[in-house]
Amino acid sequence: ASLPYDDANIFARILRGEIPAKKVYEDAYALAFHDIAPQAPVHLLVIPKGRYVSWDDFSAKASDAEIGGFVRAVGQVAREAGLAGDGYRLLANMGEHGHQEVPHLHVHIFGGRQFLAMLP
Ligand code: 5GP
Repeated sequence: ASLPYDDANIFARILRGEIPAKKVYEDAYALAFHDIAPQAPVHLLVIPKGRYVSWDDFSAKASDAEIGGFVRAVGQVAREAGLAGDGYRLLANMGEHGHQEVPHLHVHIFGGRQFLAMLP
């Protein structure tokens, strides 16, 4: 279950150009920029351009073109950041239990160091 989309959320504002972001990639489906509080040497966020609250909302409602474009963009962003060789970690928090803070779907890309084994 997802909340209705809130056009005032911070990533919607970044998409509209109302507040700045350190952008690294943009195409028809996705925008990527540096996280404002990086948790790793490389910490990027990739967001779809459509108005989707979360992974749940996106996976249920987005078109195949939007989903395909977004997934390709995540891989492209990681490659362009030079992470594909040594590897990286993807994370999408969803909803309350997932501790999602910004209600516009975003995938985190973490890289540039060794991460611990993932624990739920
Ligand atoms: P969540 O917990 O929703 O998965 O992650 C939200 C992420 O957005 C956090 O890592 C946080 O640092 C980042 N963030 C929050 N506000 C801004 C902002 O205004 N600009 C950027 N670039 N990142 C933000």
